[in-house]
Amino acid sequence: MSKSQKKSEVDSKIMEIKRQQTLVLIKPDGVQRGLIGDVIGRFEKAGLKLVGMKMISPSKEILEKHYTNDVAYLTALGEKAKAGMEKSGLSDSRTPIQIGQWIRNQLGRYLAISPVVAMVWQGTHAIGNVRQLVGSTNPISADVGSIRGDLTIDTIEMANLEGRSVRNLIHASSEPEEAKREIALWFTKSEIYDYENVMDKVLHDAEWDSPKKK
Ligand code: ATP
Ligand code: MG
Repeated sequence: MSKSQKKSEVDSKIMEIKRQQTLVLIKPDGVQRGLIGDVIGRFEKAGLKLVGMKMISPSKEILEKHYTNDVAYLTALGEKAKAGMEKSGLSDSRTPIQIGQWIRNQLGRYLAISPVVAMVWQGTHAIGNVRQLVGSTNPISADVGSIRGDLTIDTIEMANLEGRSVRNLIHASSEPEEAKREIALWFTKSEIYDYENVMDKVLHDAEWDSPKKK
């Protein structure tokens, strides 16, 4: 590979990382509790750029596509839930896929009870950075300082005992393929904005401190 080919490969990798996008939903508990502003403020303060936003009462169709009926997805969801239950001393005789299916049904009900705020956030490693700011799925073990750690107190244990979804305020895409699929599901291309702001220079312009620019 020539030097210039190598440079253009590195440049396109850098652009991909800097312009990564992720889908965030403020779930009905966040909307009802008046936490929309707090949540948006946390992502803004971290330096992410809001490139799409709307309030939406999700249809059954969009929810069924968001939390898919895919066997691998349901099995992974069920396995994660089962491991979490065992860790907290709860046993469940259902198979992972049965638990995954059950969680999916509960999620459909939970997300349909009031509007949700759907957003697309963009920036360096947006997917990982947003997940870090959101905190882990079970609010009781989410880090202090994270959205789920600071702004809610529900637990997966209570949710399981009461037979419902854990009310953890936010959904955020967990990896690039998921983000691409979810953004295309919730937003049309024209609802996503490509615009410049001061963060593009301060956070993302490698030349900002270059002597050539002075
Ligand atoms: P999200 O996908 O909503 O961002 P997450 O990636 O942290 O959350 P997932 O494992 O994808 O967690 O689960 C999706 C959602 O399902 C969770 O946010 C939560 O609302 C609900 N959920 C997950 N596991 C359980 C469980 N064991 N009991 C009840 N609800 C659960
Ligand atoms: Mg998830």
